[in-house]
Amino acid sequence: MKYLENISPSVAAISSGWSSGNVGVVAFDNFVIAIDTTNSPERGRIFREEIDSHFNLDVKYTFLTHHHSDHASGLNAFSDTTIISTKQTAKKIRSLTRINTYPSVVFDSEYTISNETDYAELHHTGGHTSDSSYLHFPKERVIFSGDLIFEGYLFFAGYQSNPNKWIAALERFKELNPNIIVPGHGPTLNGVKPLDKHISLLNLLTSTSACGKREKRP
Ligand SMILES: [Zn+2]
Repeated sequence: MKYLENISPSVAAISSGWSSGNVGVVAFDNFVIAIDTTNSPERGRIFREEIDSHFNLDVKYTFLTHHHSDHASGLNAFSDTTIISTKQTAKKIRSLTRINTYPSVVFDSEYTISNETDYAELHHTGGHTSDSSYLHFPKERVIFSGDLIFEGYLFFAGYQSNPNKWIAALERFKELNPNIIVPGHGPTLNGVKPLDKHISLLNLLTSTSACGKREKRP
């Protein structure tokens, strides 16, 4: 069984739900970047094997979009790579019990991975969680949004979520005008039009007392 599928010439992803959180790969000409690591050490190993056979290039970097276990639990299979995350993610994943390898490169707001011909930008936005971040690969107009998007599922928003930052991140995606967005869960999105329903839902929630505001009690 092969799970990893190309979504553009240099980008592949698993968005079938096999790994719970979606995972993906961006290939430069002399190395690849893994994005998230699946929800278990076993699936992390399978994901790694698939990357190696699909691209036949070194996995030089692994980027974690945020600290949730359904995205970070396969990290051990990427211990030989340079693991990159926000400072917050690097701290928060210390509480995960199934990993024993951690980010060695951390950033506050943004970071660029590049070689002579290509680059990918990592941006910290907050929103779904305070450490939520995304990867943008301008050359093929692809965004890996992490859990800033749950496509076809009701999103998860816990006490760390910030609806205003979340909306701002999705508005930024619209400005970047990607061809394809790989969400944290669910199938890939084509173009920016599908973002409108996500933004509308978040706007609806922020306009009610259920999210972020407390009603004054008499
Ligand atoms: Zn999450």
